[in-house]
Amino acid sequence: MKNLSNFSLFRKLLSASGALIVVALVSSLQLFAQAPVPDSPAIEAKAKEMLSKLTLEQKIQLIGGTRGMFTYAEPSIGLPELKMSDGPVGVRTWGPTTAYPGGEALAATWDVAMARRIGEGLAQDAHARGVHILLGPGVNICRTPVSGRNFEYFSEDPYLAARMAVNYIQALQSGGVVATVKHFDANNQEYNRHNANSIVDERTLREIYLPAFEAAVKEGHADAVMNSYNLINGSHATQNEFLNLKVLKGEWGFQGILMSDWESTYDSVGAANNGLDLEMPDARFMNATGLLPAIKSGQVKESTIDDKVMRILRVALRYGFLDHDQFNPADSTYSVADRAIALDGARESITLLKNEGNILPLDEKKVKTIAIIGPDAFPAVPGGGGSSQADTFEPVSILTGIANYLGPDVHVLYSRGLPSINEIFDRTQWQGTISQEIFPSKDFSGKAETSELWGLSMWHEEMWAPEDKHARTIRYTGKYKATKTGKYLLLAAASGEDNYKVFIEGKEMLNQFGKEGQVPQNTTLELKEGQELKVVAEYQPYSAGVRFGIGILPESELIYPDVKQMAKDADVVVVSVGFNPPTEGEGYDRTFQLPYGQDALVESILALNPHTVVSYTGGVGADLRRWIDKVPALLATYYPGQEGGTAFAEILFGKHNPEGKLPATFDRSWDESASSKFYYPAKGEDKILEVNEPGKPLRKDTIAQIHYDDKLMVGYRYWTTTGKHPLYPFGYGLSYTSFGFSNVDAPKSGSISNLQAGGTIEVSFDVKNTGAVAGAEVAELYVSDPSAKAMRPERELKGFEKVRLSPGETKHVTLTLDARAFSYWSETAHNWTIDPGKFVVRVGDSSESTPLSAEIVLK
Ligand code: BGC
Repeated sequence: MKNLSNFSLFRKLLSASGALIVVALVSSLQLFAQAPVPDSPAIEAKAKEMLSKLTLEQKIQLIGGTRGMFTYAEPSIGLPELKMSDGPVGVRTWGPTTAYPGGEALAATWDVAMARRIGEGLAQDAHARGVHILLGPGVNICRTPVSGRNFEYFSEDPYLAARMAVNYIQALQSGGVVATVKHFDANNQEYNRHNANSIVDERTLREIYLPAFEAAVKEGHADAVMNSYNLINGSHATQNEFLNLKVLKGEWGFQGILMSDWESTYDSVGAANNGLDLEMPDARFMNATGLLPAIKSGQVKESTIDDKVMRILRVALRYGFLDHDQFNPADSTYSVADRAIALDGARESITLLKNEGNILPLDEKKVKTIAIIGPDAFPAVPGGGGSSQADTFEPVSILTGIANYLGPDVHVLYSRGLPSINEIFDRTQWQGTISQEIFPSKDFSGKAETSELWGLSMWHEEMWAPEDKHARTIRYTGKYKATKTGKYLLLAAASGEDNYKVFIEGKEMLNQFGKEGQVPQNTTLELKEGQELKVVAEYQPYSAGVRFGIGILPESELIYPDVKQMAKDADVVVVSVGFNPPTEGEGYDRTFQLPYGQDALVESILALNPHTVVSYTGGVGADLRRWIDKVPALLATYYPGQEGGTAFAEILFGKHNPEGKLPATFDRSWDESASSKFYYPAKGEDKILEVNEPGKPLRKDTIAQIHYDDKLMVGYRYWTTTGKHPLYPFGYGLSYTSFGFSNVDAPKSGSISNLQAGGTIEVSFDVKNTGAVAGAEVAELYVSDPSAKAMRPERELKGFEKVRLSPGETKHVTLTLDARAFSYWSETAHNWTIDPGKFVVRVGDSSESTPLSAEIVLK
């Protein structure tokens, strides 16, 4: 199925021959090759001929989707329906599938060959399900650690994200499946994603939020791009002239289909005239009611509709979708080969962040009893929540991975460690009843109906429900009395789109600002025995009924009693904490704090057994401050895909030497995180946007304004420029061996005009395995521009290579830098610019550890 060599042969033949050969080859290749063929006069002529046979109504029908995941077929011109599936971590829409490591995990491999293998695996999974278009990869920048979909995306760094995206896309498309790069653009939070206006200056867009898309289009030749939900500088992505027409289709020459995200279209004429080619999942705006009058009045040109249809037709022709069935029985629905890819991906991604006293790898001969504890230990957590979540055949959890690895002679003890949310609500001992006041308004005004409740445990997991048309807000007031001195958990949960605030003695302690999703909120209270608290909750339900709960429990009673015995009895404890689909996923942002009770769980285990290893599951970092200094070993698994447990066990016991490197900074605290100050919407700046959906009453959306005033200072750019240090820097990760860097060689000077004409500069150096076991190191190259006229981040990643080395082995690595590696976007020239002067290239094993450096003067 992978006909790369046929494809390149075809490209050569194509450039040397005429349309006749093309036609002959197109039809013969399609018998065995499904890789896209380059556009050609033959394809153009065929697409035009097909277009000419369509009425305007038929054309309009083709620019909207149908049945959730399809484009329309047009039998009169032989066009089949095109079937889509969500990605990016598995072909997940059509039943169980292979779940590969999530985007962040893939980027943590820093291995472009792994991105290719996953792209190939996805292509075969897609053919096994007859899928033409995969909705991935996601290349948005991980601007803030709390963004709910970080785990799907690659990195906080555009260069690393770009390299992963290009390789993933090329492999997927060479396998005959269209890649859809999403979500274009500046979609860096999930909270309020339909109604958030990302206000980003052009330089920041060009340098941070566009390059991964640019590379995906210009180098990866992605044949589809998906617009995001949000607005960018005042207009929704699906009607953003600057992004869609000027940049994507203009400057980058994008030739594919620009589709909307699912219900991210907000204006018929605006979308039609500003680049959107396909409204998904159905045409609520780009339909006959919305467009025919506009075409008649000249507001939208018929040629604009033709261009959209031509793009769809060209893509269908490029991939031969008219001539072959996309379902390929030669590809397995359950693929052992793809499981192997998922396993290698997990092995390469899991990142060792702390290994005090070389506690790892564990010596399996010495382990007679192991305790595996925590909410993320079982069941497996292959991915985060939302549209990417793959139902997979046999996901391996950390518990089963370790147990299978150790075999029957080792005792494996397991406890979830913590009660469920509802159990905490039910076990809360309130003082007397809780008063409930139900107001007939959205703001706690008017005459309330009052009643008394015995507890606040009306929460259940299903998140989504239709909107309640009746205005209603509820205030709960209760009393809680501490029975002992110490730390207490305060936990609250409500359903999606509800808002609430919890006040203790008048002080706001928890605040869920609704919009689309929800994640349980928690904090820690320090209470004295006998202390009484007035607890008030102000709840604004979105849906009918009440789905809300509050719990308060002493930490000493929170942890399951069996944990203590297990921790004492075990030779070693693995505690698995972090997030999972209900706490990190699409449609809502997550907390920076770990989910409820997990800090207390780790702390209490460490007090009983210092021989404790923590595994952390999460897109980007979290607040680990309560125990990070006390725990000897920490491994980040991101969302490792279905084979995560097997890979984790192999790393724990040294069968695989850890080689992952952080693709995003682990901040110490939310306040210190580079973007935390610029994450919240500006107060008092909300704007009203009128949305006129054909056939529906006029809608007024309230648009929040998010100022990206962190500008270029995202992630390590912030930390290295300010000279401050996060918990774990971008690019960091430990190994069971050690590496040395030496012999850097770079030219002393270079020519700017030569670079701008396509020339390159090579930087080479040696990497040596100086330790006793085989391992892999990532050589990371950062460029600094100390003499730039404009402000520039202290250093920026511009090259990397993963190097596998036996003990004592040295490899010479050469990295190639092009003009872009030295350029910044000039706000005056409105172009990429290189200022003459001194540049410094630094090479090392993280953004904060670059033992090699060389100066290059560019003239
Ligand atoms: C997501 C997209 C996804 C689409 C289809 C949307 O909610 O944002 O990433 O591809 O749904 O499931």
